[in-house]
Amino acid sequence: MKRVADHLSEILSAIEPLAQLDLQLLDADGCVLTEDVAAPWALPQFDNSAMDGYAVIADDVAGASPEEPVDLPVVADIAAGDLSISAIGPGICARIMTGAPVPRGADAIVPLEQTDRGTVRVQITAPAAPGAHVRREGEDVQADEVVLTTGTQLGAAQIGLLAAVGRDHAQVRPRPRVVVVSTGSELVEPGASVTRGQITDSNSYMITAAAREAGAIAYRVPPIADDRTSLTELIEDQLIRADLVVTTGGVSAGAYDIVKEVLSELGTVSFDQIAMQPGKPQGFGTIGEDKTPIFTLPGNPGSAFVSFEVFVRPAIRKMLGASRLHRASVKAVLQESMRSPDGRRQFGRAQLQTASDGTYLVTPLGGQGSHMLSDLAYANALVVVPEHVTSVSAGQVVDTVVLDRRKE
Ligand code: AMP
Ligand code: MG
Repeated sequence: MKRVADHLSEILSAIEPLAQLDLQLLDADGCVLTEDVAAPWALPQFDNSAMDGYAVIADDVAGASPEEPVDLPVVADIAAGDLSISAIGPGICARIMTGAPVPRGADAIVPLEQTDRGTVRVQITAPAAPGAHVRREGEDVQADEVVLTTGTQLGAAQIGLLAAVGRDHAQVRPRPRVVVVSTGSELVEPGASVTRGQITDSNSYMITAAAREAGAIAYRVPPIADDRTSLTELIEDQLIRADLVVTTGGVSAGAYDIVKEVLSELGTVSFDQIAMQPGKPQGFGTIGEDKTPIFTLPGNPGSAFVSFEVFVRPAIRKMLGASRLHRASVKAVLQESMRSPDGRRQFGRAQLQTASDGTYLVTPLGGQGSHMLSDLAYANALVVVPEHVTSVSAGQVVDTVVLDRRKE
C-alpha cells in the first residue's frame, strides 16, 4: 500500500496553478490576485466632511456655547459631489453634507446637532477644534500606494477596495471548474422515488458543495450507471468545461467497477491502494488533450468525503494559486480512546472544542463506518492517527485537522 503523504505529493506535483486571466471585478471574487494593485489617487480623494453640519473656521466658533452661541451667515449649501463652492472666508460658514468637499478656508465641521440648523443664518452652540470632523485627503490611502499585493485572495472587502481605487477588473487566477459525477447503477436522484435496493446519490451533492467550499466553481452531473459507454461519453462531454474531474464509486475490485476498467485502459490514470482509513482505493491521473486532472474517489460517502479532504481539496487550492493548500491542524487532547488499523493512517470524524484555558479537546464521533453519513454532519474536525499507531488513549494529544472554524 502507498502512503498518504506520497500519494498527495505525487498529486500536487502533477497539478499546476491555472493560468492568470483578466476578470471583471465580481467574477474575480474568491480568486487570487496575480498583480500588485496601486491606487491612482488618494483615498479620500479630497478633504470632505464626516458629518452633516456646517463648514466653519475654527477660530470663528472658539467661544461658542449654548448660553452664548456664535451667529454666522450661511453662504452656501454643499451636497456630496458638489464642487461649485470652492472657498469660504472669516465670519461666514457653509452648510455641508457628509462626504461633500470641504471648501478652502474652512478647517472644521460643526455637526448639525450643535446648531439651530438655520439655513440663512445659523446659531452655533459649541466650539470645534481645527480639523474636527474633516476626513483628510490621503488619510486612508496615498496616491500610487500599493493597496493589494499579488497572492491576495479576493473577498468582499478586497473587491470593495479595488472598486474604491477605480478598478472594474483584476488580473487573477480563475477559480477552477470542477465537474463532479457519481457512478453506480443503484443511484437515483434525491427527490425521485427510491425502490428497494436503490439509494439516493449523496456523494455528488456532498463533493460539489465541498469543491465550492474549497474555492472552485463546481458543476454536478446526474449519476451515471455502471456502464462503460456512459462513462466514456460523459467524460468526453464534460472535459470541455472542466479544469478538474471528480468521480465517485466504481474503483473497488467488484465486477461492475467500471471506472477503474475504463480509465485504466486510457493508461493515464493510475489506481492505488492507499494506506488510509477510510478511503483505501484511489485513482488519480490526467485525461484528454488538455491533460485534465481526474480523481476517482471511492463510493462510500465517508470515504469520498475524507478522500476529498485529504487529496482533492489541496489540489483545488493549488489550482487556485492559494498560499495555503492545507487546512489548519491543531494539537488536541483526545477525550475517548480510539483504535486504529496497523499500517493505515486513520482520519476519524470528531468534534473539536476549545476548553476554558484555551486548549483543544477532541471527541471522536460514534459513526465511523465508511458508509455512514449522520455523524459526519456533526464533525468539525478529523483526528489523524498515524500509520504505525494502533491505539490512542483518552488524554493523549492527537493531531486534528480543523474542518470548519464556524462550527468550533
Ligand atoms: P463502490 O465504490 O461503487 O463499490 O461503492 C461503494 C458503496 O458506496 C456502495 O455501497 C455504494 O452503493 C455506495 N455509493 C456509491 N456511490 C454513491 C453515491 N453517489 N452516493 C451514496 N452512496 C454511494
Ligand atoms: Mg459502485
